Amino acid sequence: MARPKDNAKRWPELRDAIKSRLNYKEFFLRYCPAARISGMRLYSRCPIPSHNHSGLGRPSLSVDLARGLFHCFSRGEGGDAIRFYELMHNLSFAEAVRELSRDLGLSERQMPLAFRAAPDADSEALEPLDAERLAAICETFLAFCREEEQTAGLNYLMRRGIDPETAQRAGVVYFPRRAYRRVMQRLREAFALEELQRSGLFNSRAHLTFYLHRLLFPFYVNRRPRYLQARATAPGVEPRWHNMRGSVPALYNVDLLNELPSGALIYLVEGFTDTLTLLTHGFPAVGLVGAGGLKEEWIAQLARFRVVAAFDPDEAGRRAAARYAEMFRAHGSTLARIELPLDVNDFFRQRPSAALELSLLTEAALEA
Ligand SMILES: [Zn+2]
Repeated sequence: MARPKDNAKRWPELRDAIKSRLNYKEFFLRYCPAARISGMRLYSRCPIPSHNHSGLGRPSLSVDLARGLFHCFSRGEGGDAIRFYELMHNLSFAEAVRELSRDLGLSERQMPLAFRAAPDADSEALEPLDAERLAAICETFLAFCREEEQTAGLNYLMRRGIDPETAQRAGVVYFPRRAYRRVMQRLREAFALEELQRSGLFNSRAHLTFYLHRLLFPFYVNRRPRYLQARATAPGVEPRWHNMRGSVPALYNVDLLNELPSGALIYLVEGFTDTLTLLTHGFPAVGLVGAGGLKEEWIAQLARFRVVAAFDPDEAGRRAAARYAEMFRAHGSTLARIELPLDVNDFFRQRPSAALELSLLTEAALEA
């Protein structure tokens, strides 16, 4: 599973809290004691170690003291005070924020919720929960969220062409940010903190980690939610996805396979959105998390169907489809492949005749 990237887009509230407390002049003079100050600007030789300046020539660092922004003209690198601190001490964004907030006397309780809710950078040491407890936590979390206002989540999906009935049938659930503390509190009452932490729902600060990511996509297996991933619906949040601990247990929407007769047509696509898009338009589909997400042991379940892969029209999608076709062959089965000019969701949003085009491409691929 990809680690969340450290970057300045995370924890905007905490970044603002730090900046509002920093005295930029003092801060930059600490690193550039020989600087020249002119009005609201500071000029200095650049002290950033990784720049390896020779110490000769003209000062290359310029700082806007009103906004706390620096720029090194020699290396073309700049940013805010937190970025400067990262570079001076060779730290990640998260580490720089932690140290600076400590230096500035921001206590844990004063820290913005976004910071307190952030997933632990390193939770590998915790022992994973068994599947049964994980499912129980998943189920309860979804039930609590379902009692909250769903409108914003459903609207988000509708803007992407996914109808509310399909979303509800897939068990997609949302909770608004104002319900965060309530949902967190109810989970604390329902489970031991240690279990919540082992599931990845809670972090070491005893906070629910699903704070920026509140549109939840559960993986149902035999009608029980076994795992979930959540998407951020607000713009600018990186990473876009957050998940429980553990690994993806099954194909997304795998229960559909129990309802279909042998020989039925089924689409294999990338991601939740593409799966739900096809379901919205009446095409049976199961999904992978990313093009590379198919596990060998899932092929047996698919082998009794006529499976058509429709991955993203990029190198990763093409390579995955070719590799899976080999794996299907090794199981004595076939994987038909189609390549749309766009990903499935964009294709259906942009082409009025998408359903017909997909059917024709599918027929051709199955005959090939
Ligand atoms: Zn420099």
